[in-house]
Formats: sequence, structure tokens, C-alpha cells
Amino acid sequence: MLFSELNLKPEILEALENMGYTELTPIQEKTFVPILSGRDLLARAETGSGKTGACGVPLVHMIDPSVNAIQALILVPTRELALQYVEEIHNISRLVKVAPFAIFGGFSMDIQKAKLRDGVQILVATPGRLIDFLYNTTYIDLSSVRTLVLDEADEKLKMGFVEDVDFILSCLIHEHQTLLFAATMPEEIDRLIETYLKDPLRVELNKGQVAPQSLVHHFQYTGPRERLKTLIEYLRGEEISQAIIFCNSRHHGEKLLAELKGKFDSLEYIHGGLEQSRRTSIFDRFRRKGITLMIATDVASRGLDFSHVSHVINYDYPSGLESYIHRTGRTGRMGRSGIAMTFVTDNELGALRALLKTNRIEPVWRGSIPNLRDPLKKLKRGGNGRRYSARRQNRAGENRNGMEGGPWQRQWMKSP
Ligand code: AMP
Repeated sequence: MLFSELNLKPEILEALENMGYTELTPIQEKTFVPILSGRDLLARAETGSGKTGACGVPLVHMIDPSVNAIQALILVPTRELALQYVEEIHNISRLVKVAPFAIFGGFSMDIQKAKLRDGVQILVATPGRLIDFLYNTTYIDLSSVRTLVLDEADEKLKMGFVEDVDFILSCLIHEHQTLLFAATMPEEIDRLIETYLKDPLRVELNKGQVAPQSLVHHFQYTGPRERLKTLIEYLRGEEISQAIIFCNSRHHGEKLLAELKGKFDSLEYIHGGLEQSRRTSIFDRFRRKGITLMIATDVASRGLDFSHVSHVINYDYPSGLESYIHRTGRTGRMGRSGIAMTFVTDNELGALRALLKTNRIEPVWRGSIPNLRDPLKKLKRGGNGRRYSARRQNRAGENRNGMEGGPWQRQWMKSP
């Protein structure tokens, strides 16, 4: 469906055209009419599916420009996501009189107060900073909010924001619409849904296929001692336009940075301990393709849109199923192709088995293939020792490990 087929204000259509948006993405197509009709919504969407626009376009359309009050409130888990969200809304509303603004921690409250005093109609906020404002100031009045958006609701719960979210939702006692977006639906979300959503329309894309489809999932089975060497070889051998290399802790990230420094030119490291201004500057440079390799802790994995990332590398194996989805969702966005490369050691084989099964991921192995049915029995390294050879697979499409060959096998044979 085309945006021009919707009954949108002409200024919004023109802005969307300037942004290069002509056709609605599937999530936008499924949610546009229900959002405009005022219905509560529960949407599970693939990361990179266009969910910011799915909310942003109808919200901007619904704002009454003559009412100088907060009419839509969007809660996001991180400052980076707040900035990204507000930028998208700003672009959509460029030609209409709508005032979007974002508040988040780590930034002067005085500047935020000045902007709030001027009048804000769409407010994007992280829970902590919003509560700061609600408790300690009179700058925010939520009584005119008609639509509340809980974006990345699963992440907010995981980050321990549950009480904050409860508090904010309990402040909205008047009739309003609630839209909940999440990439994954852990059980705790059910309570939120039961408590705060009224007969929500459930929208689920790619049921049973949580991982982004345009991704190829590569895995490298390695011992802890060879991991660094293998990573360096990999980075040198791959055609990478931009890569994010994930580590599980700040300390690991620092160690890796020290190892890669001097070997690769365009390298940065981003983690939660950096000053906000430094984090924003790294994110901006990365987004403008001024950085090729970015080492990151999970702070960089949540919902952020880096359209040009060709590779997401899990140098440290992600700490949960959802973390894999969030991290790898930084590439293969909007149907572009991307490679997720995950290093796996013996300790992670059980978790990997669950990951592949739950998300129906077809792995493409580099080097040897571990025996996932019986992790203790490893296969010998295949072919030249670096890549698993397709020759090892018999005609029935099974490899010696009993894992089924299929499209992944063909992909493998095509790869350089
Ligand atoms: P999101 O899932 O909201 O982070 O969006 C992922 C990317 O898709 C962003 O770069 C958006 O600018 C882009 N995008 C969103 N909607 C559309 C659309 N209808 N047409 C083209 N690009 C879009």
C-alpha cells in the first residue's frame, strides 16, 4: 500500500516523500487504521521493520495543532532511542505545526524545561527522566495525553523499569489510547497488557519467525584462546561496510579495543559508562558512516537504527535469546541484507541449541561444526580448517553431524 492512498494531510505526505517513504512497510500497513481509529494495540514487530514510522505517522496526523499541550507520550528505554524517535517524528512533521521533543537523563534539565515551557505536543521520554519531571517540577502535564506509546516494552522491563512504567501509567487516569510495541513478548508483559490495555488489537509479524529474515546467521565454533586471532582474520577477510562488535561487559570491550587498536583504523568503543555527549557523538559519526568498526556493550543494541551496518559480530556470546535478536537486529534492516556472526565456545553450545530451535535459525558454520545434539562429541575440522566444506555433506543434504542441509548449504557454497 502507498502512503498516497491514505487520507493523510498533504504536508505529511510531502514530508514522507522527502524522507523516501512511498510504500508502507507491513507493520505500518497493519497498524495505521487501528491507531487512527483510537484502538489499543499490541504489536510485535521485527526490529528494523519501520515501527517508529508506524507510530509516528498517525500520531503526527492526529495532533490538534491548536492545542498547545502534550497530546502523545512515547516511553522508550534509552536516550539514544529517544533521540532517534524524536528525529523521525520531527522529519514527518517538518511541514506541519507540530512540536515534538525528547527528554532523557544525562542532559541538562534546565534546557529541557525551557523547551517544555514553550509547548510540546509529542513528548518522547525515558521513564527515569519523566518521573524526575513529574515528581519535582510542574513542567509536565499529562492530562491532555490521548495516546500513550510503550516502545520496546520488553527492553524496559528487562532494564528494571517496571515500577517506573507502572507509576507513569497510573498517572494517566483519563481515557486514552495505549500502543505497546515489543520485539519479543516475555511473560511479564502479560501483566502490563492485562492492567493497562483495553481489548487490544494484536498484530504480529512473521509469526514464529522472530529473527529478521534478511539476515544470514553465521557461527564460528572456537576455543577461548583462538577467538581473538579468528576475529582479526575474519575482520581482515570480510567485506565490511560497517560492523558492530558486541562484548558482554565493559571490561571485555576495553580489552578487545586494546587488542584491535593499531590493527584497524576506523575503530571506536561505545558503552554505558561514557558521557552522554561522547556517546551521542560516536553514534552520530557511526550513523554518518564515519566509523567502520564499533565495539559495543549492549547499550548499542536496543532498537537503534543504523541502516548501513553490514555485520553484527557477537564476539561474546549474547547472554540471552532476546539479546541475540536485539543485537542482530542492527543489521539486515528494512530487507537489506546483513550478516550476523557469532563466536561460540563449548560453554555456549546448550544455549545455542535453544537459540537455533526457538528462532528457527538456519546456521551457516565457518570452520568446524560442533555436535549440538551431543556437545561433548566435536566434529573434526573440515577442509582447509577454516571453513566447513560442502563436500562433507551427503546427497540427502545431511552433514556428518546429522544436521540438515538446505538453503544455508547453498548459501555457503556461494560465499567467497
Ligand atoms: P525502525 O524499525 O522504525 O527503526 O525503521 C527502520 C528503518 O526503516 C529506518 O531507517 C526508517 O527510516 C526506515 N523506514 C521506516 N518506514 C519506511 C518506509 N515506509 N519506507 C522506507 N523506509 C522506511
